[in-house]
Amino acid sequence: MTPALSSLLDDVLRRNAGEPEFHQAAREVLGSLGPVIEANPHYARAAVLERMTEPERQLIFRVPWTDDEGNIRVNRGFRVEFNSALGPYKGGLRFHPSVTLGTVKFLGFEQIFKNALTGLPIGGGKGGSDFDPKGRSDAEVMRFCQSFMTELYRHLGEYTDVPAGDIGVGGREIGYLFGQYKRITNRYESGVLTGKGVGWGGSLVRTEATGFGAVVFAQRMLATRGRSFDGARVLVSGSGNVALYAIQKVHQLGGTVMACSDSSGVVYDRDGIDVELLRRLKEVERARLSEYAARRPSADYRANGDIWALAAETPIDVAIPCATQNELDATAATTLAGNGVAAVVEGANMPCTPEAVHVLRAAGVLFAPGKAANAGGVATSALEMQQNASRDAWTLEYAEQRLDDIMTAIHDSCAETAEQYGAPGDYVLGANVAGFVRVADAMLALGVI
Ligand code: NDP
Repeated sequence: MTPALSSLLDDVLRRNAGEPEFHQAAREVLGSLGPVIEANPHYARAAVLERMTEPERQLIFRVPWTDDEGNIRVNRGFRVEFNSALGPYKGGLRFHPSVTLGTVKFLGFEQIFKNALTGLPIGGGKGGSDFDPKGRSDAEVMRFCQSFMTELYRHLGEYTDVPAGDIGVGGREIGYLFGQYKRITNRYESGVLTGKGVGWGGSLVRTEATGFGAVVFAQRMLATRGRSFDGARVLVSGSGNVALYAIQKVHQLGGTVMACSDSSGVVYDRDGIDVELLRRLKEVERARLSEYAARRPSADYRANGDIWALAAETPIDVAIPCATQNELDATAATTLAGNGVAAVVEGANMPCTPEAVHVLRAAGVLFAPGKAANAGGVATSALEMQQNASRDAWTLEYAEQRLDDIMTAIHDSCAETAEQYGAPGDYVLGANVAGFVRVADAMLALGVI
């Protein structure tokens, strides 16, 4: 890192004390930008990075709600509106007990570059709450969502800030949030939230988009080494929205996903994961993953198991972490690299620790960072906004083709940028530089704001 970038990073760390995930994301992005800043001194003169690392607005608010026993509960809500140079703030909401301002800031910062990579007119933001939806009834989730939106609505709008889902926020939660927004504002403003149901303003393929897109990105990346998913054996961590549709797409392309996980354990299925059974359990019954093994004779459940350790027991070609940040560490990366894994593709946001990324790259394993590989979700959200604005609903084929085209373009832009900066095959550098340049140029054009 150049001395100027290093001093900027020190400043970011100092001003955002106690936010290790945001520090990690800032260090990773700034660590890639030396060559582009040196070649373009006007970015430094305009303090583009100083501005880009400081959110435009950060909201923290109280969310009181009543549980089914009549007890009053209090959670904390967040929305970080990070950068709107390219369009309205866009990024999901996460409901998980681990959520802090630092988590939301790391996700919002990543979102700026990810959204720029899609080539679509969307800025970066993220939000959420430390509310834990696990084990809560539908009525409790609804009351929480209504209270959350009762504060957040005043900051949203289809031209201002457009949230979507993330961990713990799926179609059910988006429905309750949208209902409350509509009630308070008395406007059917479809474009204010994405991830809506297909029957009421949602887009076909939005639910599948992040997982599908990550696998399309992986397919392009594997092709650069003359490989494909045909016959490939794959590990996918998580069993939520992203994991589920990554698994489905791998199977469509002729690969087999041998295992998936949740925060309690791992399922290994000798015959490959049965997507229909998994979808029914997770989306309809809201069951734990242990239930999958109970219903499938070819599967074993390992409580507290480590999914990446399976690579030492059975041949694996590709790993797709789709659960949460820092779930794949240096030990896991060493196991994957040492057992012949060809590619690691981040379906989740920042699931690999910096040490893991170092191990993978040093071993020559293809590595796709989340801000590029999982951008299909937000890209299809922007396509949902386009359909809402034109009061239109696209066909499945058209929506899927658009996703495919966008993922291919993101892959190619990362690969070409890496090549241009003398680091062929470095998708981390490619994604950070290509995303940065698009946002930085827009910021320059808009003046010092
Ligand atoms: P879901 O809530 O649908 O699923 C999350 C999955 O990850 C669950 O299986 C969950 O297990 C597991 N998980 C969550 N937290 C932990 C943890 N601390 N340790 C171990 N496992 C955990 O979320 P999504 O699938 O939507 O999101 C997954 C990742 O993808 C996140 O990083 C998210 O930011 C990223 N992402 C999501 C997008 C989307 O469109 N949904 C878009 C781009 C990125 P359990 O049920 O036991 O908690």
